[in-house]
Amino acid sequence: MNYVVTARKWRPQIFEEVVGQEHISKTVKNAIINNRIAHAYLFAGPRGVGKTTTARILAKALNCKNNIDGEPCNKCDTCNSFNSSQSLDIIEIDGASNRRIEEIRSLREAVKYAPTTGTYKIFIIDEVHMLTTESFNALLKTLEEPPEHAIFIFATTDVHKVPLTIISRCQRFDFRRIELDAIKNQLTKIANSDSISIDDQALTFIAKKADGALRDAQSLFDQVVSFGGKDIDATVVSKMLNLIDEDIYFKISDAILNKHYVEAYEISKSIYDNGWNYIDFINGLLEHFRNILTTILMKDTSFVESSQQVKKMYLEYIDAFSESDLLRILKYLNKVEKELKASQNQKLLMEISLSHLIGLESTTTITELIKNIQNGKFPENAEKKKCPQRIQSINNTETGSIERREEKIIITEEKKTSDFEKPEVRNISNVDVNISTEESSLINAIINELGGREFK
Ligand SMILES: [Zn+2]
Repeated sequence: MNYVVTARKWRPQIFEEVVGQEHISKTVKNAIINNRIAHAYLFAGPRGVGKTTTARILAKALNCKNNIDGEPCNKCDTCNSFNSSQSLDIIEIDGASNRRIEEIRSLREAVKYAPTTGTYKIFIIDEVHMLTTESFNALLKTLEEPPEHAIFIFATTDVHKVPLTIISRCQRFDFRRIELDAIKNQLTKIANSDSISIDDQALTFIAKKADGALRDAQSLFDQVVSFGGKDIDATVVSKMLNLIDEDIYFKISDAILNKHYVEAYEISKSIYDNGWNYIDFINGLLEHFRNILTTILMKDTSFVESSQQVKKMYLEYIDAFSESDLLRILKYLNKVEKELKASQNQKLLMEISLSHLIGLESTTTITELIKNIQNGKFPENAEKKKCPQRIQSINNTETGSIERREEKIIITEEKKTSDFEKPEVRNISNVDVNISTEESSLINAIINELGGREFK
């Protein structure tokens, strides 16, 4: 059996290789360079972001004989013995399965003995929050007066379960959730080295599903490769992970602009047929409208975590919704999410909620009203929001709905132009101007269309 899972194969061996935790790597390396070593470290943060990996690299670096700029060399005896799991000076303990007082007592005994080859005897306790209260108390005694050679590195996903008396004796480091782009870059590197072709959308799907945990992303990547082979596209990933098709969210926002009620039933049906979770769907929809709002506020997609293709689609909404309408939609969806959790018939509730959403009339705020009146635009003439000119969206096979959408765009545009010109054209008959016959007939045609007096 030669196969090694990606997360293990690509486990960083030096600080430089740890993804997304540069703030920690830098501090720890400086501490080693300046020989300011603490007796206890606490690594806190979500799962799969590099806590245990960093703890191992730190342990190795502390005992390494040819440490270069704070990094372990991975060549000397102590580095090699740790890498082949034979080190007697670096002891890894799983807090979840060694949580009882007896185990901590034997740990206290082990702490007393000096290291065999390295400078320090290092104890890495993973999931330290799982220890019992008695165990923590026993550990506290050792932490209060540790022998010169002993160093503890604790890792935890639940720092609030660790007693403050322990935390206050440690140097605490908070690990971050890894950013979407950092995960995508790492997966691209892995794919390239294994000659696997994978597109940007597929990488985005995996990285989003991993929710900031690189280890989860690597496991999903392995799964996708087993399923799809060496050539992977977004459809394969979407099918394998049974992801909700992102296009569906765009259909809803388009339906709101087009007042296309049928979508409510079609979408609710496709959620049901695909076996997607309604709560996941609402959360995705909330994120979608949040993305539209940030795109409108920022005038770019810097706050949108998605593929380039999808980001472009968000840009088309810049003039389509008002901020107040989006806030209203978000508030409404939040309410729907709570109702869905308690509902016995989620499909029906979804249909009603989506119909209601599509039927929401756009609001005009007092400020907008005043602005419009000052500009000579009364509510019925006020500037209409522009529908996105998206003609083709991903996987959209409904030609009918696309045509309807195009018609709508043209009508909105025409109306806007005539609203703008109306007051100026009406005044032209009172002004002494020299114009050609051609221009005069054109103006008359416009005035006729607007129902005004004829110009001679
Ligand atoms: Zn070394």
